[in-house]
Amino acid sequence: MALIELKDVTKKYDKSTTALRHIDLSVNSGEFVYLVGPSGAGKSSLIRLFYQEEKLTSGSMKVGEFDLTRLRKKDVPLLRRSIGVVFQDYKLLPKKTAFENVAYAMEVIGEKPRHIKKRVAEVLELVGLKHKMRSFPNQLSGGEQQRVAIARAMVNRPKLILADEPTGNLDATNAKAIFDLFLKLVRTEHTAVVMVTHDDSLAHKCDRIYTIEDGRINV
Ligand code: ADP
Repeated sequence: MALIELKDVTKKYDKSTTALRHIDLSVNSGEFVYLVGPSGAGKSSLIRLFYQEEKLTSGSMKVGEFDLTRLRKKDVPLLRRSIGVVFQDYKLLPKKTAFENVAYAMEVIGEKPRHIKKRVAEVLELVGLKHKMRSFPNQLSGGEQQRVAIARAMVNRPKLILADEPTGNLDATNAKAIFDLFLKLVRTEHTAVVMVTHDDSLAHKCDRIYTIEDGRINV
C-alpha cells in the first residue's frame, strides 16, 4: 500500500497564485523519490502540504494513516511526529551540541533519558558523527551540520523524511555524501525519502524521478 497518495491536488495561495496544479503522486514505504524543478516551481509548497504548514485547496492527500483533507487540528502534532524534515539551512539550535540537537527531538515527545542516550548515539554513528557529538553547530562544517539535521529527522523512526533542497548550501562532494546518506537510510531503515531540489546531478541513483514545473508534476 502507498505511504503517500496525492490525487488531483491543487494549492492556491490567492486568486492569482496557483503553486500546485492537479498533482497526482504516490510513494511507497522505503522508496526514494526525487523531485526536480526550478525555483518557483512549487517544490516548497508541496513539502509544506505534507506536514500541514499549508492546507491544500482541492483534491485529496494521504500520508500514512492520516487523511489530510479531514485531519483535525488536534491531530496535526501526531502527523508531524510521523515525518522527519530536513531543510537547506539545517535549522539546528546554535546553543545546543550535536548530541543535544538530536536528543531534543526525543525529549519533546517524552522519551526516557536512558532510551534517548542510546538512540542518539546510534543515529550519530549512522551519520558518521559520533566523534563530534559534543561539538556545537558553529564548530561543524556545512556538510556535518546537515548530517546532524538528518540524524535529528530520523531519530524517532519516521516512516517518511522530507528534504527541501538539502544540498543547496553544499559543494559537490558534500552534496554527494548527503545524498548517499539518504540512500543508506532508505535501504537500511526502510524510510521513504522525498527530496525536492533544483539539482538533478545525482537523480539517476533514486528509485523514481519526477520533474516539477509551474506547479505540475510530469510523470
Ligand atoms: P519552489 O520551492 O519550487 O521555489 P514555491 O513552492 O516556493 O516554489 O513557490 C511556488 C509559487 O507559489 C511561487 O509563485 C511563489 O511565489 C508562490 N508562493 C510560495 N509561498 C507563498 C506564500 N506563502 N504566499 C503566496 N504565494 C506563495
